[in-house]
Amino acid sequence: MRILISNDDGYLAPGLIALADALASIADITVIAPESNRSGSSNSLTLDRPLSLHSTANGYYFVNGTPSDCVHLALTGILLDAKPDLVVSGINQGQNMGDDTLYSGTVAAATEGFLFGVPAIAFSQVEHGWKNVDAAALAARDIVQRRFEALQKPFLLNVNIPNRPYDELTKTVATRLGKRHVSEPVIKMQDPHGRDIYWVGPIGAAKDAGEGTDFHAAQQGWISITPLQVDLTHSVQLSALKEALA
Ligand code: MN
Repeated sequence: MRILISNDDGYLAPGLIALADALASIADITVIAPESNRSGSSNSLTLDRPLSLHSTANGYYFVNGTPSDCVHLALTGILLDAKPDLVVSGINQGQNMGDDTLYSGTVAAATEGFLFGVPAIAFSQVEHGWKNVDAAALAARDIVQRRFEALQKPFLLNVNIPNRPYDELTKTVATRLGKRHVSEPVIKMQDPHGRDIYWVGPIGAAKDAGEGTDFHAAQQGWISITPLQVDLTHSVQLSALKEALA
């Protein structure tokens, strides 16, 4: 099995290294990750300048671009003759649940694989801080090894793993995305010259964390797996719109 690994925290992130180490024992891996932390970059592609590919002493590649750039570059160039069987992304520092999935570069790297017809899995650790990241990597390897033959291909899975020791990661559940409240207000500050500057505020708390959601699973200490799709068409609104335009 060939696995392409990327992330949005950058090629030096402990979550990426732990994941690559865990998957190297079961697959041929290629790591292509952003040069710097590109969390929150969503599915953006860099179109206004060329991209450079560099390699590290341990065989990773890094790119001065976004997570989507990395996977795009891999699938349309570097790995043309060695197409991966799976794209994995992460392990992200911090949860990607509910609406986070729209902003997440971690999910976006997986989505880029999915859009090219390759099954893909995004992995995130629920709490910040990398605690038990090696346990999360082992759990991620277990999930990769399940292969999910029963699912339609390509599949796109979003996985959130609680920061717990491996022997406490005993339950894995299928979930739907929950919802968050809107983000906290932007934070207004002044730069050293007295000019107003603004920092985007923290994400909102969970609003729909009901049973069956990714938020609920994480609260129980369970591993959450949500199958994602990309078609944003609202079919009920489509019918209403068709009637309105008739
Ligand atoms: Mn990140």
